[in-house]
Amino acid sequence: MLCLNDSIRYDDPSLQRWLSAVEETHTLTALLLAVWPLARTLARHIVESVLAARAQAPTCWPPCPTCGTPLRRKGLATRQGTSLFGPLRWRRRVGRCPHGCDSPLVAPLDGELGLQPYQRSSGELQALGCALAVFVPCATAAQLLGWYSGAAVSPRAVWGWVQRAGGQAMATLQEALQAVATGQLPPEESRAEALTNVPLVRGADGVMVPFRPDGGQPRGKTPWCEVKVGGLARLGQHRTRIGQVVTRLAQRRLVAVLGGSEALKARLWLEAVRQGILHAPRVVWLSDGARGLWHLFEERFAGHATGILDFYHAAHNLWKGAAAWLDGRTTPARRWFGWARHRLRHGQPDGVLADLAEA
Ligand SMILES: [Zn+2]
Repeated sequence: MLCLNDSIRYDDPSLQRWLSAVEETHTLTALLLAVWPLARTLARHIVESVLAARAQAPTCWPPCPTCGTPLRRKGLATRQGTSLFGPLRWRRRVGRCPHGCDSPLVAPLDGELGLQPYQRSSGELQALGCALAVFVPCATAAQLLGWYSGAAVSPRAVWGWVQRAGGQAMATLQEALQAVATGQLPPEESRAEALTNVPLVRGADGVMVPFRPDGGQPRGKTPWCEVKVGGLARLGQHRTRIGQVVTRLAQRRLVAVLGGSEALKARLWLEAVRQGILHAPRVVWLSDGARGLWHLFEERFAGHATGILDFYHAAHNLWKGAAAWLDGRTTPARRWFGWARHRLRHGQPDGVLADLAEA
């Protein structure tokens, strides 16, 4: 470390300030906070030197989009952008049509680096901004990114990244849905060896979610809309510290849509194929008694899965049956319900069903 310290000091005197700040700290927190801007600066130096080396490599000039003649070199131009380590700046070759066609300057290195023409922030910064914006408002996400990168990030930029990422995700999903509708099944997602031969469970439900009255505007009455949700998981086995084997949900995947059962059906089927519904040794469909969900089960999943009404809803219906049969909230109704629920809970429905049939 001392050696590195000396070489940094020697190579780049502008880092002196950061190095002295690091040495003057006392607590570990202060030390780490002081080393962070130094680390960012070093990272930027490394990235910029790699970019400078790439800019020196031979360039393969593409043809002019108008006349097809290979473009010709027109010197170096600066490009800059914000990254997770703060602002980056580098120079790269640009070219233009030798016949003077009216097309903009082209920088082949930008394309190799995966940069869009007017992109001002790098992909990893945008990805972290989008991930933060899932949990906090854009303004908070921008503030957190600013603390991390040492560069100013505007809430509007985070909003724009989220919109673009959302648009791309929707386009990818639409493509996958269309492919599955025409019989092109997606590849199964890889999973741990231990999860290959265990049952796959799927459940679905609806949840009420608050929405803005007008897109992007906070004013007005909040409308509540139902978002249909489907979950998929493998029933994995887990051994506890005292050696007990318990069932644990593994490889959990969630599908959600603001829309009707048809929209959920297509998405759930797509994800079910990805999660191996066609090869799982056993598939269970678990849901409440909502008619739409059971209709969906009949239409799409009945051939591949065993349908089970979840215990809490089954118990609820059982109470309704008991109350109708044994004159409402009477002692006999309660007694029978307690007995029947216990049998259902422990997988012995036969006596319960016989009683209900008789009643
Ligand atoms: Zn041209």
